[in-house]
Amino acid sequence: MKTDVFIAGGGVGGLMLAAKLASRGVHVVIAEQMNRKSPAYKGELLQPKTIAILDRIGVGEQVEACGHPIDQLRFQEVHRRKGRPPEEISLTELDYGRVASVYDHALMVPHEKTKDILRNKGKSFEQYFHYLPGARFLGFENGVAVVKQKRERISIQADVYVGAEGRSSPTRDAMNVHMERKEYNHHFLTVTIPRPERFTKGKIITTSNGFLGLFPLPDKEIRTVYLIEAGSYKQIKKQGLERFYEAYSELAPELKDGVRAIRDWRDIQLMIPYTYHVDRYYAGNLVLIGDAAHTVHPMAGEGMNLAVQDADVLGELLAWCKEEGKSYHEYLHYYEEVRKPRVSFLLTLSHMSALVYSFRYEWWRKLRCRAVERMYEDDKLHVKQMLNISGLGKWDFTLTDRAVQGNMLPARKRRVKDTEQYRRLFSKAEDYPWIKNEKGRIR
Ligand SMILES: Cc1cc2nc3c(=O)[nH]c(=O)nc-3n(C[C@H](O)[C@H](O)[C@H](O)COP(=O)(O)OP(=O)(O)OC[C@H]3O[C@@H](n4cnc5c(N)ncnc54)[C@H](O)[C@@H]3O)c2cc1C
Repeated sequence: MKTDVFIAGGGVGGLMLAAKLASRGVHVVIAEQMNRKSPAYKGELLQPKTIAILDRIGVGEQVEACGHPIDQLRFQEVHRRKGRPPEEISLTELDYGRVASVYDHALMVPHEKTKDILRNKGKSFEQYFHYLPGARFLGFENGVAVVKQKRERISIQADVYVGAEGRSSPTRDAMNVHMERKEYNHHFLTVTIPRPERFTKGKIITTSNGFLGLFPLPDKEIRTVYLIEAGSYKQIKKQGLERFYEAYSELAPELKDGVRAIRDWRDIQLMIPYTYHVDRYYAGNLVLIGDAAHTVHPMAGEGMNLAVQDADVLGELLAWCKEEGKSYHEYLHYYEEVRKPRVSFLLTLSHMSALVYSFRYEWWRKLRCRAVERMYEDDKLHVKQMLNISGLGKWDFTLTDRAVQGNMLPARKRRVKDTEQYRRLFSKAEDYPWIKNEKGRIR
């Protein structure tokens, strides 16, 4: 079998890339080892930049129609008292609407739904989109990809081979890249439960030693994420579901009925956060996207978004090469130059957010409360935080920002103007810097 681009892995990154390439007349073969929907939780929060990308390939409305909009993130700090309702100490609300963009909210969409939409988009270009379900990519033999589907071994020859296999990637192995894995002192338990209708905002509830993230989904459901000490899962399981229900109810009494919908520990998924980032995104004609190249701490809800954003830049580059008759290999460096620094930046941001919730000391909690409140009181911090996590742009935090956040300097009273933000939103020229006009300037 011959194709322009071979993609190993039909997750959200691989499907986004394949749909984009097929829509631009690039022949693509995509091999996905599973032939049914994945039962595993894999993230549902689509950040504004991802929504913008989905819009550009013509599925924005479809995604909006099956998502729950999140226009605000609430951070609630409480005192927990057994048998009594939690007492609120502070509440901070951060708004996506502070970002100067029409993409002013995030969306909670079931992961498999996003994949279905992308797969169907790809299939609408049937001449170019070749999806192989139940096909496991084994590796390369004589520079050609080898895939096993049922009992058949298929050789696929392509101009470019993309590793989109997620955390365990044969393409990455073949590239011999370097990466270091970082672990955390906590794990998460995650489960979807029914939610009361009026519970519509994304919310993180914390105490000095507890953390519960609540993100509403459509169909009156809510994704919950409960932080536990690393290695304590077995012990918690031994205590039984009744103790688990209690833990939820103490932090979020409004979910006390919903949490009882969990009937079995098998409904609850253990999530072990760790991070890595490869030192190279491409080698020869092999390229990595998404979790094959990097994985982030889930605290900032970025993993899936980074995969889609990688796919967008790489897809635009490969499509442009085909349209302009350029050699793919000469231009792959642009993909790494655009994506690697942005991913590094978000890895750091997610890591910092994780640290904020990693220590169970009262003094740490006080610092956290102050730092989170400052994000709201100081408009510049608010704008920077939301702009950065939205993926729509990048605005570095300065030492002054951190001093304000750490309460060493007073909060600034001035509201950030939209015009100040425009310079920080990624322009088309920054997203796709290889596209130049007739005068050789970036368009
Ligand atoms: C438990 C958990 C919770 C998460 N929570 C969030 C969150 O809240 N928000 C967020 O944004 N991100 C979250 N993430 C991260 C997010 O799921 C990933 O960053 C994102 O799915 C990466 O997309 P991907 O396409 O690169 O890889 P994946 O989604 O992992 O897709 C890889 C695909 O490749 C297939 N595959 C693997 N090996 C082969 C092979 N050899 N041959 C053929 N096919 C293969 C797999 O079956 C899979 O379908 C979470 C991840 C996990 C594991």
